[in-house]
This record gives sequence, C-alpha cells and structure tokens, in this order.
Amino acid sequence: MSERHYDAIVVGAGPAGSSVARKAAEQGVNVLIIDRKRDIGYPIQCGELVPTVEEFPNILPRAKRAEKLFNLPKWVISNTCSRVAVIGPSKKIHEFNFGQNILDRSRFDKWLVMNATKAGAELWTCCNAIKAESDGREVLVKKEGKILRLKANVLVAADGPSSNMAKNLGLGSSNPKDLIVTMEYLMGGVEIDADLTEVYFGKEYAPGGYAWIIPKGESMANVGLGIRTSFSERGVSLKDYLDRFINKHPIASKKFQKGAILSRTGGLVPVGGPIEKTYSENAIVVGDAAGQVMATNGGGIPPAVICGDIGGEAIVQKLRGENDLSFYEKEWKSEVGKELDAGVKIRKIVDIALRSDKLAERIFEIFEGKIVREVILCRLSMPLNLVYKTVMGLRRTLKVLER
Ligand SMILES: Cc1cc2nc3c(=O)[nH]c(=O)nc-3n(C[C@H](O)[C@H](O)[C@H](O)COP(=O)(O)OP(=O)(O)OC[C@H]3O[C@@H](n4cnc5c(N)ncnc54)[C@H](O)[C@@H]3O)c2cc1C
Repeated sequence: MSERHYDAIVVGAGPAGSSVARKAAEQGVNVLIIDRKRDIGYPIQCGELVPTVEEFPNILPRAKRAEKLFNLPKWVISNTCSRVAVIGPSKKIHEFNFGQNILDRSRFDKWLVMNATKAGAELWTCCNAIKAESDGREVLVKKEGKILRLKANVLVAADGPSSNMAKNLGLGSSNPKDLIVTMEYLMGGVEIDADLTEVYFGKEYAPGGYAWIIPKGESMANVGLGIRTSFSERGVSLKDYLDRFINKHPIASKKFQKGAILSRTGGLVPVGGPIEKTYSENAIVVGDAAGQVMATNGGGIPPAVICGDIGGEAIVQKLRGENDLSFYEKEWKSEVGKELDAGVKIRKIVDIALRSDKLAERIFEIFEGKIVREVILCRLSMPLNLVYKTVMGLRRTLKVLER
C-alpha cells in the first residue's frame, strides 16, 4: 500500500470542497481534492437556484464575502428569474420579487473545481474515501482498484449529507429525522412563466415540505418536491407524490399538459441545522456534511461556498501557526450562523403548520404575503420570532403536563 502526504486533503468536490481547496491553494497550500464521481457535478441533484448577487444582503446579510464568490460567469447560468410565487394549500397565490440565478449545476461545479485546480490544487476523480482516522491525519482511499493511505496535516470532510468522514472524525452528522427526501424531474415542453419560480405547499402534494417549479429557460423546468417521510401517507411513495403534483394539482398540472420528463434525480437535504462542532484539531466539516443549509428553502449552495471559503482561510492560518481551526467555526457562525439558526426555528413553526392545511392557510392569511417571503428567505422577523417563542413555550408546557 503506497503512502502520500499533503498539507490538506479535501474529500468531496462539490461546492463546499472546491471552495475550501481553491482558497487554501491560492495561498500556497498543497491541497489534494478527491471525489468518487467520474464526472464532476454530474448527476445533477439540485433545483439549481441561487440568489442573484444583489439579493445576498436580503438573505445572508452578514456574509461579507458572498458578493465576490457569487459573481458568476454567464456560462454557468441557464436562466435568471425576478419573482417567486408561493401557492398555499387553498391554492391562493402570494407573489414577491426576488432575483434568482438558475444554474447549470454541472457547469457550476466544474467551474468551482477548475478554480481550485487553476490555483494549484490536485484533483483525483473516481477516488472513493473509505475511512478517515479520527485524528484527521490519515485517510484510506480506493483509486483505480488500489487502496492508498494518504496523510495530511488537515482533513476536510465535504462529502455531502450523511457524511461518513464527519462520523469517522467523531464530529457527528445530521439526524436522519432532519433529512428531507427529494425527487425532481427535468421537464421539457412546459408552459410556464420563465421569470417566475413557483413553490407549492399542501399535505396532499408535498407533506412536510413543498413542491417547486424552477424555470430553466427554453420551456424547460426543474419540477420536484421534498417531503419528510414522517408526514407522508402510508404506501404513497415520493414518486407517487411528484406524479400526483404533475398530473392532478389544479394549478400546476395545467402547465405540464405537453410536458415530457427528460431526466430524473433526487437526494437528501439536511434541514436540522449545523452539527454541534464543525472542527477538531486537524479537521473541519463543511457544507451539507456539516448541515450548513438554509432549512426553509433547502438552499445549501450559498452556505457551502461561503463556509468553504472560510474553511480554506482557516487551513492557511493553521498551517502558518497563526490560529487553530476553531477560527473556522467562529467565522462561519459570524457570517451565516444567525440565518442558519433562524431557518431551523422557522422550520419548526412551519412543521406544525404543515400538519394541517387549514392551519397553514390561516397563518398565510393572518400575516399576508410578508410572512411567506420571510419563511422562504429564512428571515426570523419580530412577528415570526414571537410565533416561535409562543409555539415552543406551549410545547414545553404540554410536555410538563404530560409527565
Ligand atoms: C433535489 C435537490 C435540490 C436542491 N436544490 C437546491 C437549490 O435549488 N439551491 C441550493 O442552494 N441548494 C439546493 N440543494 C442543496 C445543494 O445541492 C447542496 O446543499 C449542495 O450541493 C451542498 O454542497 P456540498 O459540497 O456540501 O455537497 P455535495 O454537493 O453533495 O458534494 C459532496 C461531494 O462529495 C462526494 N463524496 C461523497 N462521499 C465521498 C467519498 N466517500 N469519497 C469521495 N467523494 C465523496 C460526492 O460525490 C459529491 O461530489 C438541493 C439538493 C437536492 C438533493
């Protein structure tokens, strides 16, 4: 078994891992990035929506590096939308303005990884990380049928939801109860407004979650849904729900009459909030692996890229002896921590509302369009915070009474 040594090894060439690798390599760190995929960014498991650079102050207002990181080249963007419509269980439509870039995710991931390799990082595709030592100094990988033992000063777990690397490092991973399961079709020939992203709530179509139509341009759209299995009907699969949405939803189904399914995908989205500790002496956990996702909209690309950039900076500082890796956690919490926490709190309120279509619709009505925007954008405004505190207070009281 051969052995090699790197300053930093990054497991996962998704947005989180590539961003760590780029940032560290730009400052002279000897980085190896490995991914088990044969084609970076493919298969696409994503709605492909990110806020436009102008919207970052509205969604992640303290993420000071977002403007630079999300100044995207045109060739990674398929479409741009300026509005979002949220359709409640009673089919009432609430619309608001919000600028979104709809990515070509395969190109986007390739662009990010290319930036890392241009900065000097080495990339191994078709390379599976089998096991990491708990001290983060060693990882066993399988490449071209051979097992290699790789040594590093810092190991980066950026291997996506249900991260094995984070588990090996003893830093935990998302609770399975907090995972949204998703299914998505790329549909062609759909009759939609190419400037409008649509989000649908309702127990019948997306229990414990929501369905989406994200326009890719040229009459194509990502049509998908994410649900929590604990909310769904017995014997009804994720595919059944998506097909029901496409064929039977009174508003949505009209848009798909001439539509065809061009490809199918799916995956997990961790919505329980970040794991308790995202670093150890020689390792960091980044992106979905760390639960860094906006819990009410499932947006994981912006936090992955931002936290990845911070992770790369933390590695540089550690290797120069200027800081330990706690800098990583302190810094990502200061840039996106408040918003990620707010997302989890809002999700807990939404969870209760989603148990009943009537309650969900009533909440939509009481607060009108404003609250819908805040829920989708993970903004915990005063009224929402009040609802959260009341709901959690009631829950605690009920638990005490049950004892
Ligand atoms: C259906 C769906 C729709 C979504 N829509 C959106 C959206 O519209 N907007 C948005 O912002 N977010 C969306 N997300 C979430 C977003 O895709 C993730 O948050 C984002 O990809 C996180 O990036 P990451 O780098 O942390 O993880 P990933 O992108 O999952 O990358 C992890 C990488 O690690 C590799 N890997 C895993 N294990 C190993 C191993 N043992 N050895 C080697 N390599 C390994 C994988 O091959 C993968 O390339 C969606 C997710 C799903 C499932």
